Amino acid sequence: MSKIIMKTPLVEMDGDEMTRVLWKMIKEQLIEPYVDLKTEYYDLGLVHRNETDDQVTVDSAEATKKYGVAVKCATITPNAQRVEEYKLKEMWKSPNGTIRAILDGTVFRKPIIVKGITPFIPTWTKPITIARHAYGDIYKNTELKVPEGAKAELVVTDRDGNETRALIHDFKNSAGIVQGVHNLDNSIASFARSCFNFALDAKQSLWFAAKDTISKTYDHRFKDIFAEIFEAEYKEKFAEAGIEYFYTLIDDAVARVIKSEGGFIWACKNYDGDVMSDMLATAYGSLGLMTSVLVSPDGNYEYEAAHGTVTRHYYKWLKGEKTSTNPIATIFAWSGALRKRGELDNIPELMRYADNLEKASIQTIEDGIMTGDMAALSKLENKKSVYSEEFLAAIAERLDRLMR
Ligand code: NAP
Ligand code: MG
Repeated sequence: MSKIIMKTPLVEMDGDEMTRVLWKMIKEQLIEPYVDLKTEYYDLGLVHRNETDDQVTVDSAEATKKYGVAVKCATITPNAQRVEEYKLKEMWKSPNGTIRAILDGTVFRKPIIVKGITPFIPTWTKPITIARHAYGDIYKNTELKVPEGAKAELVVTDRDGNETRALIHDFKNSAGIVQGVHNLDNSIASFARSCFNFALDAKQSLWFAAKDTISKTYDHRFKDIFAEIFEAEYKEKFAEAGIEYFYTLIDDAVARVIKSEGGFIWACKNYDGDVMSDMLATAYGSLGLMTSVLVSPDGNYEYEAAHGTVTRHYYKWLKGEKTSTNPIATIFAWSGALRKRGELDNIPELMRYADNLEKASIQTIEDGIMTGDMAALSKLENKKSVYSEEFLAAIAERLDRLMR
C-alpha cells in the first residue's frame, strides 16, 4: 500500500503530559502507516515554551495563519504549582488564549456520538456544536462596591471631550454594587463571520440567542450585527446549502435546545457559552468525546481535544503503570485537521483516510472495546474496559481493514 502524499504541511502543536504520550502513539500507530505526514512541528510542551520564553506559541499561531490548518495537543496552563514543578521563568499565559488572540478565532465544541453512550437528553441523536464568543462582557468588566447615599452613573467621553451621562442607580436607601461591561462591533462581527462560515462548512443551521428584549441597546447590538452580516454576505449561500440562520431569545433557545434532536450550531454570547458548553459536555457524556476547533473569521482552523492533559493519569504513567486514557478526542483532532487539509488541497484520499480513521474509532467503541471513562457510561452488554495501548491497537486493526 502506498502512502497518501500531502501537498501543504499541517501545523503540528505538540503538548504536555498524558496527551503528549498519546499524541506520539496516535501518530505512529494510526497515521504514519497510511499518510506520508508532512507537518511543521512546534513543541508547545511547557519545557520548550519556557525555553523559548513562549515564543514557540506565537510562532505556531503565525504558522497557522500561513498554512491555514493546525492540530494541537492539550497543553498545561501554568499556575503557581506548575511554576514550581517546572521551574518556570514566568507564569506563562494559556497557549490557547495566545493562539486565539492571534487568530481572532471562535472555538466550536462538538461531541462525538457513539452507540451505547446515550446523552442525558435521549432525544439528542445528533451532536449540538456550541460556539462561545470569547471576548468582553463580564469577562472584561469593571466592578465597584457602592456605599449607601451614593449615585452611580455611566459616563462616555468622546474624542472631543463631550460627555454623555446616564443614571445607573441612585443608592439612596442601601449600599450596593455596580458593574461596567463592554463589547466591540469588530469582535462581534468576527464572531458572527466565524459562525456563519462554520455553519456553511458543516452544512448545519446556525442558532444565535441573546436577551435583546431586556437589553435593548447592548444585546440588541449583537442581534443587529448578526442580522446585517447575514443579509449582506451569507443569505444566498445559506439558501444554496439548504440551511438557515435562526435568532431567538436566549430562554427560548434553551427550551428549544432541550427539545431538539441536535444537528445544529449554537452560537452563544460569552457568559451563555461558558455555562452552556459545560452543560452540553456533561449531558453528552465524557470529556474524552468532546472535540474542539478554533476557526478564524478569515478561514484558518486549529483542531484539538476539548479536555486537558489528564494529569492524574500521567503521574500514574510516570510510575510505570498503564492507564486507560481516552484518545478519541485527540484522534478526531487529527482526522479533522487532515480532512480539512485534504479539502483545501484537493486530496480526496486524505479526506477518505480521515473518514476511515473516525469510522474505525467509533466501530471499536461500538464493538464494546473502550477506555474506562467510556465503559463507565456505555450501556453495551459486551463492553470491556481496556488500557489506551490495547484500545489504540483495536482501532488500528479496524483501520487496516477499512484502508484495504
Ligand atoms: P483534564 O486534563 O481534562 O482532566 C480532568 C479529569 O477528567 C481527568 O483527571 C479524568 O478524570 C477526566 N478526563 C479528561 N480527559 C480524559 C480522557 N481523555 N480520558 C479519560 N479521562 C479523562 O483537566 P484538568 O485535570 O483540570 O487539567 C489538567 C491540565 O490540563 C492542566 O494543567 C490544565 O491547564 C490543562 N488544560 C489544557 C487544556 C487545553 O490545552 N485545551 C484544556 C483544559 C485543561 P479521572 O481522573 O477521574 O480519570
Ligand atoms: Mg465554563
